[in-house]
Formats: sequence, C-alpha cells, structure tokens
Amino acid sequence: MKTAQEYLESLKQLKPKVYLNGEKVDSILKNPVTKTVVDAMAKIYEMAQDPKYENIMTAYSPYINEKINRCLHIFQSVQDLEKRVEMAILTSQVLGTCNYRCPGCDALNALASVTYEMDKKLGTNYNKRFVEYLKWVQKNDLACSGSLTDAKGDRSKRPKEQDPDMYIHVVEKGDDGIVVRGARVHQSGSIAAHEHIILPGITFRKGEEEYAVAFAVPNGTKGLTYICQYTPEDAERLHTEDTYHLGNPIYGVRETCMMIFDDVFIPWERVFMCGEVEFTRHMWSRFARIHRMSCGGACKVGFGDLMIGAAQTMAEYLGVAEAYHIREKIIEMVKINETLHACALAAALKGTEEPEGSGVYLPDRMYSNIAKLNCADGFWKLMALLGDIVGGLAVTMPSEKELKNPDTSEYIKKYLKAAVPAEKRMRMTKFIQNWSAGLHGVGTWHGAGSTQTQRLEIYRTVDLEEKKELAKKLAGIKD
Ligand SMILES: Cc1cc2nc3c(=O)[nH]c(=O)nc-3n(C[C@H](O)[C@H](O)[C@H](O)COP(=O)(O)OP(=O)(O)OC[C@H]3O[C@@H](n4cnc5c(N)ncnc54)[C@H](O)[C@@H]3O)c2cc1C
Repeated sequence: MKTAQEYLESLKQLKPKVYLNGEKVDSILKNPVTKTVVDAMAKIYEMAQDPKYENIMTAYSPYINEKINRCLHIFQSVQDLEKRVEMAILTSQVLGTCNYRCPGCDALNALASVTYEMDKKLGTNYNKRFVEYLKWVQKNDLACSGSLTDAKGDRSKRPKEQDPDMYIHVVEKGDDGIVVRGARVHQSGSIAAHEHIILPGITFRKGEEEYAVAFAVPNGTKGLTYICQYTPEDAERLHTEDTYHLGNPIYGVRETCMMIFDDVFIPWERVFMCGEVEFTRHMWSRFARIHRMSCGGACKVGFGDLMIGAAQTMAEYLGVAEAYHIREKIIEMVKINETLHACALAAALKGTEEPEGSGVYLPDRMYSNIAKLNCADGFWKLMALLGDIVGGLAVTMPSEKELKNPDTSEYIKKYLKAAVPAEKRMRMTKFIQNWSAGLHGVGTWHGAGSTQTQRLEIYRTVDLEEKKELAKKLAGIKD
C-alpha cells in the first residue's frame, strides 16, 4: 500500500487541467483550496498505515492475495459491509469533510456486481476486463473517484430531445476504443484522484445505447477539464494567509468540481459497459444502494458525532450545559444520529450476495434508501439544534484576527469571553458555523441522490401486498 508521502509524490506526475475562481490552478498540491482535497486524501493513505486503524481501513483482497486499502475492496461478506460503514464513520470523524474515496469504492463494487451479471446473461467479457483493471488499481493502491451525475440540462427531456452532450455518451467507436463526450457535475475530490470510475447515472432506454456507457479514465487524460466549485468558504480560504481561524483549518469543506469530457479516448480494456441499456438501471441503482448506506447514511454519522461534540463543548463554554432544555437538545441530537447509524448498520447486516455466485455483497435495498432519506431529514435537525446551542454568534462573529489587532483585541477578549476565554469560544463557534450555517445542509440533502430518488426506490421495494394481507387478516376481511 502507498504511504501518504508516496501518494503526494504520485500526484506530481499528474497534469490535470484544473480551474478555480476563473483562473488555472498551477499546482493542486499548493493552491490553498485544492490542497484541502489532497491533504484529506493523504490522510486516508496515512490512516491505512496506522496500526490503530488497520482493522477498519484495510482489507484482504482475494483478487491479488494482499492486504489493500479498504477503499478499493470488493465486499465479500456482510462483515465487509459493516466495516465499510465503520470506515465511513471513522474517516468523517477524523477529517470533518469528505474522504473523497467513497464514490470510487462504491462504483467499483457496483461494477463488480453488474459486470458479472452482464457476462452471465449476455456472454460479454466485461467482468474479466473489470477484474484485470481492479487488480491493477489494488496493486498500485490508486485513489479512485466515482462519477454518475451528468449535467442533465432540461430534466423533463430525454438525452436526445435536447443538446445531446447533457449526458455522457459515446461519439465514436473504433478498433482500439471509444471516444466520449459530456460533463459530470459535483465530482467529489476527483482533481486529486488517480482514476475516475464513470457509470451511467440514469436508466437509459432502447434507442439511447450510446449513453449506456461505463468506463475508467486516468486523471489528466487528454480532453479532460476540471472546473472547481467556488463558495464563500473557498473564497475565505483563498484570500487569507492564516488558515487557523477557518472552521476546519486543514481539510476544509467538501470540495467538488465539474469534469468536462471533450472527446476523450477510452481504450477498450477500460470500458465496462457499452450499449447495454437494459443494465443501466442495475448499474446506478446498485451503486446508489451502496452509496446510500456508506455516504448517505454512515459518513454523516461521523459528521453528526463532530456536531454533538461541538454542541456539548459550546454548552459548557457558555455555562448552559446543565440547563434542562440544553440537555434535552443534546439527547435529541444523539437520538437522531444513532438512528442514522442503526439504519446504515441494518443496511449492511441485511446485505446479500448479488447476483448469486458473484461473491459480491450488496447492502439491503430498503434499509440503505431509508438510511439516506432519514439522514437528509436528520442532518437538518442536527444543524438546527447545534445552531440553537451556539447562539447567534455562529453567523455574526468578527474575525479571529481581531484578537491580534491592537485596536480591537481587548474589546474582543472582554466582550466575547464566556465561561472560557474569547479565543476558545471563537474557535469553536467558527467550527460550528461550518456545520450549521455553511454548505452541509444542501450538500447532505443531494449527495447520494436527491430525496425523491430514495422515495421512489422505497416505493419500488416495499411489499404492500404482504402488508395489506396482514391488516385484512386481523380485520377479518376475506376477498
Ligand atoms: C457535496 C456533494 C458531493 C457530491 N459528490 C458526487 C460525486 O462524487 N460523484 C457524483 O457523480 N455525484 C456527486 N454528487 C451529485 C449528487 O448525487 C447530485 O447532486 C444528486 O444526484 C442530485 O442531482 P442534481 O444536483 O443534478 O439535482 P437535480 O437532479 O437537478 O435535482 C433538483 C430537483 O429537481 C428534481 N428533479 C430532478 N430530475 C427530475 C425529473 N426528471 N422529474 C421531476 N423532478 C426532477 C429533484 O427531485 C430535485 O428536487 C454530489 C453532490 C453533492 C451536493
């Protein structure tokens, strides 16, 4: 496995075309915003080397008979799924942001399951290709991003009823490979990943075969452009030399980018679906099932732990920790967070091999969708309760730099102290601002799919006939 240092060295070989705030980024390792992604990814490599985290952060790969980073592991059992949940929680607790390898891990698992089924049913050799690719990625311990979200344009129109590039599609097929065009949006951490795993993001229909495409592409491939997100948090980081006073000083906020595919060549050995529209639904929905357990459910539990810790600390700083209503709010936060934890664990523990014989385990479809849906609601409530406890200062606080300003320092120290000196209160308040008044609410709502998609999956999964029978039987109704 790579060390964090080896990962950083490997990034120097990559030459991605990255733009941020209207300018080209010379080095993603040096730019203050993109560096947060690099540092978060490096931490994941470091954690995998740390004996304290070994049990959660590493796994044994039957594909290469070696210990690997769990972010590249294909789930072989229910226990593997449970470890996947624990890894998501742990990395969120340690980073306070995305670990950036979740979508890639979950996309690899969706590919392992669906390509197996495609080969069985269609006689293709996608699974063989995929396994060769997987072995290479595992051997070299490469960071993979995962990609499903197309630009989509007018959502009421099919791909061919509008600008055809709104969904990634094949524009050319040759003896050596395919050429693809389109754009992916909201791509977590892909600027600092070695590889991008691209899956279809919706169900395509007959006549839309060129859109049914899955493949892997290396970072910086000719024709790829990365346009980074730009938010108030990014601006704040970009325009300051001292990061100590930012809410999450090292790892920052969840960073994403648009990824533009301007006629990118993909050799056949990296293509894992090409035209099989009937399998596009399996591909995105199996990915979603995994991702709604791990990212939609579990990862936010780690964030929730940080929010609960911040709420209790702030209550103590303000001298209100013993107040009945504050304790009730802390209890409510724990109740919400542990319910999310339980849903993610249920999704893992009720997981099954799918398809049978593939050796790939997927989480339970109902519980993983429930985990994400509960999380979308629960996270807003956590934000609100934390916002209640911190007080208005979360959105009105002066800069911590005032503490070093001879004109204002004494005023700040005098009037912003509470049960603790102003400096501690301000630092924790800024940390809380990042959670309660920042990007996380909408981010958590849409990440792993907007809530309507979970509702539809739940409706498709629930056995209403069985429930009707139970009710009718007790009520004494015979049809
Ligand atoms: C922080 C963050 C990180 C992310 N990371 C990744 C990543 O690493 N990789 C990746 O691929 N994606 C990633 N995503 C994307 C995420 O999966 C999408 O945001 C999500 O699927 C919603 O898509 P959208 O943002 O295009 O919103 P839309 O799909 O446009 O949704 C907007 C609204 O329109 C509704 N809507 C959409 N389509 C229809 C329709 N046809 N009919 C009726 N109503 C409709 C939705 O229900 C919603 O209310 C990330 C998102 C966030 C916020």
